[in-house]
Amino acid sequence: MIIVPLGVASATPTATRHLSSVALWREGDVHLFDCGENAQMRMLQAGLKRSKIENIFITHFDVDHYSGLIGLISTLQLQRREKELTLVGPKGIKEYVEWNFNFANIDLNFDLNFVEISEDIESERVVDKDDYFVEARPLNHTKFCVGYRFQEKDKPGKVDADKAEALGITEDEQYKALKAGEDVELEDGKVIKSYDIVGHPRPGDSFAYITDTKYCPNSVKLAMNTNILYHEATFSDNLADKAAETGHSTSSDAARVANEAQTKLLVIGHFSARYTNPFILLREAREKFFPAWLATELRPIYTDPAQEKGIVKQKVYIKEIDESKKSSGRGQSRGGGDRKKRHSSSRDDSKRFRKRRSSSGRGGPDRGSSRRSNSDNQPRRKRRPDRSSRDQNDYDKGTSRPTKHITPRTPFDDFDRF
Ligand SMILES: [Zn+2]
Repeated sequence: MIIVPLGVASATPTATRHLSSVALWREGDVHLFDCGENAQMRMLQAGLKRSKIENIFITHFDVDHYSGLIGLISTLQLQRREKELTLVGPKGIKEYVEWNFNFANIDLNFDLNFVEISEDIESERVVDKDDYFVEARPLNHTKFCVGYRFQEKDKPGKVDADKAEALGITEDEQYKALKAGEDVELEDGKVIKSYDIVGHPRPGDSFAYITDTKYCPNSVKLAMNTNILYHEATFSDNLADKAAETGHSTSSDAARVANEAQTKLLVIGHFSARYTNPFILLREAREKFFPAWLATELRPIYTDPAQEKGIVKQKVYIKEIDESKKSSGRGQSRGGGDRKKRHSSSRDDSKRFRKRRSSSGRGGPDRGSSRRSNSDNQPRRKRRPDRSSRDQNDYDKGTSRPTKHITPRTPFDDFDRF
C-alpha cells in the first residue's frame, strides 16, 4: 500500500500547497480520498494513472475537499473510460455530480456507483471487496463530515514451496487448493494437509484518513492499529481556540489520536496557509507521538518499503527534495525563480534575488504589514543558514531538531484563512 499526498493545504491553496487530496495505491489500483482542485493534475505529476481510480471518497462538502471532482470525472470521460467508478460521500454527492453533467449535457460512457452516507450512521462499511473494505464514521466538524479507514482483509499465509515439492505436490491446481485451505490427495492416496504447507494468514495493511475534525472518539476507532494514519493538523497548539471554533485539530490533537489508536505511523497534513514552515507543527506532534511525519505533496509513503519503493515515481520536481540537495550552496534560496539563475557569484545572485522579490508580489490587500512573517520575507530569513534544508535533512534521518517558530498571523488578518 502506497500513500501519496496530492494536496496538503487547508481551505486556501498556497504557492506550494494544493487543496486536499490523498491517493492510495494498492495492487495497481488507485483510491482517492478527497478531491480538491488540481487533484487530477497532482495525480499526473505524482506518476499515478487516473484511469486506475477505483473509488473516490469525499469527506464533506467544504468546497476545497471536492472542487476537483467534476474536472476529474470529465477527464475520465474524455479518456473513454468504461469501467464503473465508485463515488462515496455524504448524502447529496449523487445530486451534485449528476446535476453538473446534466447541466453540461454530457452522457457519461461509464457507470457511476454512488454510495451516500446519511448523518445518522455510527459506522458503515461503504465499500466491501474480496480483498479489502472501507469503513466510514462521522467526525466532529462544523458540518457533517466523515473519516475513512481502508482495510486490507487478511492475506493468505505463504506456501512453503520446498516442503510442498518434497511431499509430492507438483500441479498449480494443487498449490491453489492448499492455499485456499483445502487438503489435497495425491495419486498414491497420501493426503497433504493444507496447514502443513501454508503458514498463518497475514494481517492486511490499513490506512485511516481523518480530516476535517476536532478530536473525537470516532477518529480513534477509525485509526485503531493502522499502519498509516493521515490526520489533519490545521493549527499549532497556541491556536487551539481557533481550532475548536472552526472544527479543526491542532498537531497535538493529531498526536493524541495516534497515541490512543496505537497507529504505527502518523502523517499530518491539511496545514493552515499561515504556516509557511509546517515543521513547527511536526515538532509539536513529535513531542507527543513518534514516528510522526509531515505529508509532503507527491512524496510516497510506504507500508512495505522493501517491496514498494520505485513503483510510484513522481514526474515533477518535489521542492523539499531539491532543497536538501542544494543545502551546501551559498546564496541558494527557495522559490521557482532561483532555478533559472546562472551560477556567477552567489553574492550577486542573492542580491539580485532579493531585489526582485522586494519589487514584486506585494499587490495583495493582506501583504502590507511588516509585522507578518509570510512568504515574501521568507527568502531573506532563509538565506543564512539554509534552515529549511537542514530541517528536511533532519526529517529524512528521522530525528527532530529544534526549528525556529514562525509567528502565526494574528486573528484580524486571517479573514480568508483557516
Ligand atoms: Zn478542510
